[in-house]
Amino acid sequence: MNIHEYQAKAVLKEFGVPVSRGVAVMKASEAEAAAKELGGPLWVVKSQIHAGGRGKGKFKEASAGEKGGVRLAKSVEEVKQFCEQMLGATLVTIQTGDAGKQVNRLYIEDGSDIEKEFYLSALVDRATSRVSFVVSTEGGMDIEEVAHNTPEKIVTFSVDPATGIMPHHGRTVAKTLGLTGDLAKQAGVLVGQLYTAFVTKDMEMLEINPLIITTQGQLKCLDAKVSFDSNSLYRHPEIMALRDESEEDAKEIEASKFDLAYIALDGTIGCMVNGAGLAMATMDIIKLYGEFPANFLDVGGGASKEKVTAAFKIITADPNVKGILVNIFGGIMKCDVIAEGVLAAVKEVGLQVPLVVRLEGTNVELGKKIIAGSGLNVISADDLDDAAQKIVKAVKEAA
Ligand code: GDP
Ligand code: MG
Repeated sequence: MNIHEYQAKAVLKEFGVPVSRGVAVMKASEAEAAAKELGGPLWVVKSQIHAGGRGKGKFKEASAGEKGGVRLAKSVEEVKQFCEQMLGATLVTIQTGDAGKQVNRLYIEDGSDIEKEFYLSALVDRATSRVSFVVSTEGGMDIEEVAHNTPEKIVTFSVDPATGIMPHHGRTVAKTLGLTGDLAKQAGVLVGQLYTAFVTKDMEMLEINPLIITTQGQLKCLDAKVSFDSNSLYRHPEIMALRDESEEDAKEIEASKFDLAYIALDGTIGCMVNGAGLAMATMDIIKLYGEFPANFLDVGGGASKEKVTAAFKIITADPNVKGILVNIFGGIMKCDVIAEGVLAAVKEVGLQVPLVVRLEGTNVELGKKIIAGSGLNVISADDLDDAAQKIVKAVKEAA
């Protein structure tokens, strides 16, 4: 689960991490009071969306002005003006895709004077089964680009969970960033705080880009991007409360209510499959035959008719879906349950696109009989290859 920058900074602040003072606003009318409270003389008005690259982003609306999604303001008037321009406008960054994201919240911060910008992040490294840090002098820019062009400028190290952060980790960070004296000390304290926050809150990723040295000689986290392990949220109600559903895909939210493993994609063929492996294979074979999947969906092992109906409805609600492929290998999941779920959903929402159904395994004959007797225009398939070819052909013919 992702959260906004201002929320991430509030979480980090609990652990003593140095961040700027700031006020989050959702209405332009709140801007003046917020700006006055912070005092100036420099403010930063920051779009809060779950995507990076905001500073270099562009708004779709001309009324939002030419500047990007992160703006420096030199007066209360300017803060007000930026808030009015940006709230409600759609920001397009390298991470949002062409559709962009609507800015519904802004974070107004006390502006910092920057001496230097660095990069620092922590993430769960599955290869070492540890938390790894990534550090670089090249802050404020796209780390993927740095990794590609100048990989020698990126230093990584992992932390042994038995010992936690040790003094040598702090020294590694300081050396990598060229920090000495008091700044090196600050770096040591900071990695300790970040590691504690990471582990305590079950973070999945924590990215500070940029980490800065202010002209007053203080290290400070100027940006913070944090995501949490969804499997741990049950033990962090305070993190759960930070969820902003308006930033998430509506179809994925609906799917999570039914405990369906669903991920929206941008292809044309809706997939309903049981088992994550079979779902991946189904997506691969659709691509092999020249179309793209509109989603990943694993209905799970013991899905009920209601769950299957919900899944089918989510798939058909996607306007990009031009055809549907149901691919079920019945083990614990029974083919007749799938058949009944599909029929119930079709009765409720109708069927506007071609539907190919491939059933195999437990109760397959019964499942096929239910579908054949339904009078629906369903194309049946015998195996995965056959099914993929049939749905791709049907979609291409319909186009
Ligand atoms: P991102 O573009 O989404 O990564 O947003 P950031 O929070 O990283 O802000 C983008 C850039 O704005 C930073 O790299 C800084 O150069 C600049 N910026 C952000 N906050 C301040 C600030 O307090 N003072 C100054 N001078 N620049 C800032
Ligand atoms: Mg940034």
